[in-house]
Amino acid sequence: MTLPPPLHISDARIRRLFLEAWARLPSETRAVLLGVVTDVIANSTFDGRTLTDLQTLGISRSCAYWSLCAPDVHQGAIFLSEKECNAVSDSAVVGAIAHEFGHAFQSPSAQSERRADLLATQWGFEHEIEAVKVEIRGHRPR
Ligand SMILES: [Zn+2]
Repeated sequence: MTLPPPLHISDARIRRLFLEAWARLPSETRAVLLGVVTDVIANSTFDGRTLTDLQTLGISRSCAYWSLCAPDVHQGAIFLSEKECNAVSDSAVVGAIAHEFGHAFQSPSAQSERRADLLATQWGFEHEIEAVKVEIRGHRPR
């Protein structure tokens, strides 16, 4: 079992769900992500960006957020919002984390929301991505 990236998560449930998502990834994918994801940070403000700031960026609501260290650096951190994670099911939190793994896996210059969902689905998180669509993005249940 590949060790996860350095975790800065004090909330026991979010920490458990992150480790569950990490453990379910294919081992080759974990190896790639270890070279890309420098830290996983759970807080209420997304590293100083408030949810209101995210809304001005066009992100209405999110449990998780992928942020590159710099635009030309293929490394970054996954941020988790404790407040948003605590408002949705375990499946939706795991799905949101898997979606951010999908962003981290993609090249910084070719980021696609659709492909992040697709990669997560290919890694076995189809049910959890569906939970993200319904609980976080407000889609009708399929
Ligand atoms: Zn995304």
